[in-house]
Amino acid sequence: MKKVLSLILAAALMLCFAACSQQPASTTPDNATVIKMGTNAAFPPYEFKEGDAFKGIDVDIATEIAKELGAKLEVVDMEFDSIITSVQKGEVDFGMAGMTVTDERKLEVNFTSSYATGVQVVIVNEGSDIKSLDDLEGKKIGTQLGTTGDIYSKDDYGEENVVSYSKGADAIIALKGGDVDAVIIDNEPAKAFVAQNEGLEILETEYAIEDYAIAVKKENTELLDKINAALEKLTADGTIDKIIANYISAE
Ligand code: GLN
Repeated sequence: MKKVLSLILAAALMLCFAACSQQPASTTPDNATVIKMGTNAAFPPYEFKEGDAFKGIDVDIATEIAKELGAKLEVVDMEFDSIITSVQKGEVDFGMAGMTVTDERKLEVNFTSSYATGVQVVIVNEGSDIKSLDDLEGKKIGTQLGTTGDIYSKDDYGEENVVSYSKGADAIIALKGGDVDAVIIDNEPAKAFVAQNEGLEILETEYAIEDYAIAVKKENTELLDKINAALEKLTADGTIDKIIANYISAE
């Protein structure tokens, strides 16, 4: 009886040993720490989805930053408007979404050094009577909720004249359908939307010129410093320029 028991025990032990020693290996195959990027993957060419894969300038730069930090990048897709809160709550480690540095946002998160320039532009239907920023007075303007284009145009043209959509692409549909007369959005997504949709044009006058940077939780200065060091290296060795050139052709 004793012998049987000890045999069973030995077998059980062996089973557990095999199972227990395999489990950690299968859940984290390369043992790397995961670093989470909060973004809104509807902002080409900075972030977009191709099938299930996340692509774009920000995704590629973040992948390189993660490598520098010895970590694996995980992209978490959400509404643009939720990114800063998500960073503050620590649900993601940083926010990267063609995000403009503004004084208001600086009260909520820290920003790394800037890695790109953005320009707010105005998209209209071809042949529109809107030719300049002044012509926007009293017109219906479509924007993406919580973006600088949204915030500034509400200030400049009145909240009642601005319709905020959760995606830039939805603002474009509204423009084509005549629900709004113009869309104010960042220049590179604007170019992508105009290329994908016939009958739209971008006004020559620029609405605002801005810096894009990565948002990090106020308390996490260690990560801020590490990302800044990585950005400095990736800028100096030409990686960032190369990534941007992969998506944006020089004019
Ligand atoms: N640059 C704009 C902002 O930060 C828009 C960014 C975005 O829509 N992803 O508000």
